[in-house]
Amino acid sequence: MRSLNVTQVRAVLARGVMVMALATLAAACSSAPEEAPLATDVMVFEGARLITGDGTVIDDGVLVIQRDRITEVGRAGEVAVPNGATRVHLNGKTVMPALIDTHTHIAAEREPLLDQLQRQAYWGVAAVASLGMDDIELARQVRGEVIADAARLRTAGRGITTPEPGRTEVPYWVTTPEEARAAAAELAKNQVDIIKMWVDDRNGQYKKMTPELWTPVIEEAHQHGLRVTAHIFNLSDAKGLLRAGLDAFAHGVRDTEVDEELLALWKERPHVVLVPNLPGRGVAEDMSWIGDTVPAAEIARMHEAQAKLPPTAGASFQLQARNLVTLRDNGIRIAFGTDSNGGWQAHQELADMVAAGMTPGEVIVAATRNAADLLKIDELGLLAPGKSADFLVLDANPLDDITHTRRIASVYLRGAEVDRAALRSRWAAGGTE
Ligand SMILES: [Zn+2]
Repeated sequence: MRSLNVTQVRAVLARGVMVMALATLAAACSSAPEEAPLATDVMVFEGARLITGDGTVIDDGVLVIQRDRITEVGRAGEVAVPNGATRVHLNGKTVMPALIDTHTHIAAEREPLLDQLQRQAYWGVAAVASLGMDDIELARQVRGEVIADAARLRTAGRGITTPEPGRTEVPYWVTTPEEARAAAAELAKNQVDIIKMWVDDRNGQYKKMTPELWTPVIEEAHQHGLRVTAHIFNLSDAKGLLRAGLDAFAHGVRDTEVDEELLALWKERPHVVLVPNLPGRGVAEDMSWIGDTVPAAEIARMHEAQAKLPPTAGASFQLQARNLVTLRDNGIRIAFGTDSNGGWQAHQELADMVAAGMTPGEVIVAATRNAADLLKIDELGLLAPGKSADFLVLDANPLDDITHTRRIASVYLRGAEVDRAALRSRWAAGGTE
């Protein structure tokens, strides 16, 4: 068996075809044809702590992958390693499933979109869902492709809202139950992955969606086997949407503390998922860690903006953090989304959720298994046999400090290591291609 470190693995994979050809030749000439062939397409990652995505942690774990699939996950000594497998030693490192961002907004043109998906991959995000402002043709086309070093895409196509002049005109602007139902039916025909609604008067500027409009959307979506997620602001709308059968919230309740009535409604519907999508904490933070993908001038602007934050800047975060903890304490299912598209924001959101009061372990489950479930991407979200080999190798344990998710040694998507160095140098040169 060969022993390699991570940096040698790419070369081995490139040589794999030749190795297999030689193995075939050797087998043909061999006088002992009954011998098992060498498993040259198998890689064994050993010595790391494995965070599997369902809350389980395996110290000194072994992860076996064959091409793009995980075949075995277990403790050292309890996993059979096939002969001829490439062994990767990860002592001191932590392996966790790649992240899934259920709330992003993608570019409307192909090249910038692919660049965004590669930035997501760079930061360890295996899949993103874009919620409601998409060019459906482009999104569907990219969704159907396997793109090297890029996150998978899911799309809500066009979302549904009431007329909001001055805001984006991509979504359906509906004013009658008939229009609302027709919009949902058209989205189903266009094979979106989920339906997005906005229920927000934007500080009194617009007439927002009411039960008369959102109920037919939810009914029609469910008839087509689609789920509905809603952007909300108010507690009262959250209650109405739960009563109408909503499947997920793309934001938490933001106007007031959640109350017993909401908790009772939610507990009667335990499949309904919260994506907290927390606002900024309102405190200054050193952003130099995003420098691999964000230009220095932009980071400097962020630091300038932070210096001007008023003392009240964290009020919205504090309220939503309290609501998140209350919902967590009541057993509500929590997933993960950032409402962004740069990739690095996933790590900020993980830290924000921990700052709100969730444990690092809970937050990782939210951003892996629970997010995969919400998007119905069965092959992602867990380190488990049969799943796609999409995972992060971290230099430090995120269960000790959630910001350790930023200390990425390598990212694997579909069994292939993302070429982060090549992406980094392309972006450093100012390119998007
Ligand atoms: Zn959004």
